[in-house]
Amino acid sequence: MPAIDQRRRITADRRAFNHYGVVCPFCGENVGPRFVTREHLDVPPNPPYAATVRCPRCKEEFEVIFSADAVRATERR
Ligand SMILES: [Zn+2]
Repeated sequence: MPAIDQRRRITADRRAFNHYGVVCPFCGENVGPRFVTREHLDVPPNPPYAATVRCPRCKEEFEVIFSADAVRATERR
């Protein structure tokens, strides 16, 4: 296991994630709800939460934290 913890915890817009707009920090593969292995409902603050995702291409696992700030930063209107 690589010792780079930062890459295993990314912040993303939940809506982008739902539409596979989030990429794996290891190989750049698009990931989304289909690749969630575990959901975390207990991560503050509201809204959403976080999820553990397993990349379908490189098989790395990482945590996606759904952040309101990230929503604002990545939202396209
Ligand atoms: Zn990957």
